[in-house]
Amino acid sequence: MKLTTQVAVIGGGVVGCSVLYHLTKLGWTDVMLLERSELTSGSTWHAAGGFHTLNGDTNMAALQGYTIRLYKELEEITGMSCGLHHVGGVTLADNQDRFDMLLAERAKHRFMGLETEIVGPDEIKKIAPITNTDGIIGALYDPLDGHLDPSGTTHAYAKAARMGGATIETHCMVRETIQRTDGTWDVVTDKGTIHAEHIVNAGGLWAREVGAMAGVYFPLHPMEHQYLVTDSIPQIEAIIDAGGEHPHVMDPAGESYLRQEGRGLCIGFYEQPCKPWAVDGTPWEFGHELLPDDYDKITDSIEFAYKRFPVLAEAGVKSVIHGPFTFAPDGNPLVGPVPGMRNYWSACGVMAGFSQGGGVGLTLAQWMIEGEPERDVFAMDIARFGDWIGPGYTRPKVIENYQKRFSVAYPNEELPAARPNRTTPMYDIFSDLGAVWGQQYGLEVANYFAQGDDPGYETPSFRRSDAFEATGREVRAVRNGVGINEVHNFGKYRITGPGARDWLDRIMAGRIPKPGRLSLTPMLSPKGKLIGDFTVSCLAETEFQLTASYGSQAFHMRWFLQHQHDGVTIENISDRLNGFQIAGPKAATVLATCTRTNISNLTFLDVRRMTIGMTDCTVQRVSYTGDLGYEIYCDPMAQRQLWWTLWQAGQPHDMVPFGMRAMMSLRLDKFFGSWMSEFSPDYSAAETGLDRFIAFTKNTNFIGRSAAELERTEGTARKLVSFEVDADDADVNAYEPIWLDDKVVGFCTSGGYSHYVEKSTAMGFLPSDRVRDGLEVEIEILGQMRKARVISTPLFDADGERMRG
Ligand SMILES: Cc1cc2nc3c(=O)[nH]c(=O)nc-3n(C[C@H](O)[C@H](O)[C@H](O)COP(=O)(O)OP(=O)(O)OC[C@H]3O[C@@H](n4cnc5c(N)ncnc54)[C@H](O)[C@@H]3O)c2cc1C
Repeated sequence: MKLTTQVAVIGGGVVGCSVLYHLTKLGWTDVMLLERSELTSGSTWHAAGGFHTLNGDTNMAALQGYTIRLYKELEEITGMSCGLHHVGGVTLADNQDRFDMLLAERAKHRFMGLETEIVGPDEIKKIAPITNTDGIIGALYDPLDGHLDPSGTTHAYAKAARMGGATIETHCMVRETIQRTDGTWDVVTDKGTIHAEHIVNAGGLWAREVGAMAGVYFPLHPMEHQYLVTDSIPQIEAIIDAGGEHPHVMDPAGESYLRQEGRGLCIGFYEQPCKPWAVDGTPWEFGHELLPDDYDKITDSIEFAYKRFPVLAEAGVKSVIHGPFTFAPDGNPLVGPVPGMRNYWSACGVMAGFSQGGGVGLTLAQWMIEGEPERDVFAMDIARFGDWIGPGYTRPKVIENYQKRFSVAYPNEELPAARPNRTTPMYDIFSDLGAVWGQQYGLEVANYFAQGDDPGYETPSFRRSDAFEATGREVRAVRNGVGINEVHNFGKYRITGPGARDWLDRIMAGRIPKPGRLSLTPMLSPKGKLIGDFTVSCLAETEFQLTASYGSQAFHMRWFLQHQHDGVTIENISDRLNGFQIAGPKAATVLATCTRTNISNLTFLDVRRMTIGMTDCTVQRVSYTGDLGYEIYCDPMAQRQLWWTLWQAGQPHDMVPFGMRAMMSLRLDKFFGSWMSEFSPDYSAAETGLDRFIAFTKNTNFIGRSAAELERTEGTARKLVSFEVDADDADVNAYEPIWLDDKVVGFCTSGGYSHYVEKSTAMGFLPSDRVRDGLEVEIEILGQMRKARVISTPLFDADGERMRG
């Protein structure tokens, strides 16, 4: 066995083998895979082998499309069969919400180039004749759906990797992973110790245990899962005899997936009485056995399936496959560099290895070899979870995710499991004021404040929700008076030391402000992609505060620490600094009554320390509402005291608390983009207009400079613009296609209702050469074409007089 390698991939399931293959494909050949038994000795061997592109996240869907297309390539390279059956599949909708979800998915597929189709009950009958379509409104047909041979496919990946130079050691159990001071690893195995520059944890069912060897907690949990294979069924035999094959049928109402297997059927369930497996750890001896049959937990599911597919009622069961596989709390994989670690990579938590394994392998190989993946992969980045996460949170979220695998995923839905988890001192006070809570990165965040007849729970919907009135009331209260909410859900960082300014100048593309001022700046990757959208506040020449998205803390800290140098200290103080923002025309009057500091000369983008009531605060003259506003930061221990000071001062001015729903409406008035909607690693600064904050004149080779300069000279093919939309009861959410001259020419990034101007608005990308004020387009919202016009003048305070005044 070779004892040194550039990369040691731990785990020979479909994911580890895909990572190994993609590393060789992208040019790293000194790579090896270590498998404690034979390849496919975890979840992989008992998978049903189904694959599909459907995924709520467009980038995940694109990677699933890549995975599926890869199988032919693998077969060609290796001469091995993956046992491919490209039979297509339908996902059924038995109610309007489910159908809305499919319409929204179909719309996204238009600009992704996926050839899916909405079909009605008659067509469903023709495509999947064993389906009882009673009560079915329609379905989404995907010609790419299909299934394969899990073992054959894994071995094809392995052979392709070997052909590319990789080594595979089976019966080679990894027992310890020990990091050397230079960041490389000693991987202690039964066959000897391997010195590896990088480690990839692809341990699947044992990923938790493999992670623990390096002191890393991986937020994933195994769940039991069961599918049945039937004896021959005459109707299926007839289809086969006629030269056909029955397609896949996903029946979300019955929480089942079904496909042809041999001359019968195979049907699996995501049952509600589901069971987590191996709660205290996966036994090392497990691997080649199945779990005992458990009909009890799928009794209801089977009964439902008999109605949907009556042929099943007559069919005998040939075999039951019952095994475990892992989920992350949101069901997406855990991929990328593990935050806080050097040269340690994650490729685990993959619950659909045959839909996603290729995309996971490609992404990880790009990240390791090229420094960044080609697209925004935040949806599967392990850094989307922070260090606050532990098994007590992961398990209930994983159970919830399993149960909701086939549920409608609404854009405004707040999932209930593992909540409330993290709260600020304001939780009870805001609850008493009617707060209806949502959740971000484990933190409770007020979405709106219910009063009178307002619902205390926002009903999930693709259309305008029942929080519409409350949101409108809060928006008007801010624009006409003054509103208050917390700044707890901002990511906050303290950058200090003699090297702080130089470090910021290199890491941020924008201007770094002088003491007492703040600036807005994009943070770019080397390829010029947006990896952050920051406010930089200079508190003193060697002391800065950064604010950005709360949910990106681990993502941003990982980047900061990877680029840290001497003379700079970087601290994540997101939960160590709290406070409020007050916004609206009366905000200055309220603040003035709470402090002895003269705030009349606190101008737009100023930052100053001052005492408010009894509390020492940092006050920034800026607001995401686009209004006259202040962000007021304090020690969380003093937050309640600060609250009572501001709240009492606000009462004569009819101050109201406002939530995130109002905030997102207010920002639309000003066309302010939002992180992960308008601003994400999928886009560049010039595409989104954030290049106006790039300091091209500064004398620093900031990261991403050459890419940004190239864009400045060459321009970009697409531009972010805003629209006024003739919507009905549904506004733009995200990824709706934009039509012009009967062609899809762009897509929306976000949208909603601008309560202040009483208009439906949206933001999205158009080809640069088509952009002009007033351009008439159509936006497809839930299957309906809605007229829309490009608008370039903000709907509120267009000249910025109020915001700056
Ligand atoms: C009943 C069932 C049906 C399924 N159906 C489908 C389906 O239709 N479609 C689909 O896409 N997915 C399906 N899945 C899920 C699919 O099986 C998984 O997504 C996939 O197998 C995950 O692969 P993996 O490589 O991440 O993990 P695993 O297959 O668990 O592989 C991990 C490997 O790492 C090795 N290993 C662990 N620790 C060590 C160590 N210390 N040293 C060396 N080696 C180690 C293990 O021996 C194992 O071989 C199903 C799962 C189940 C249970």
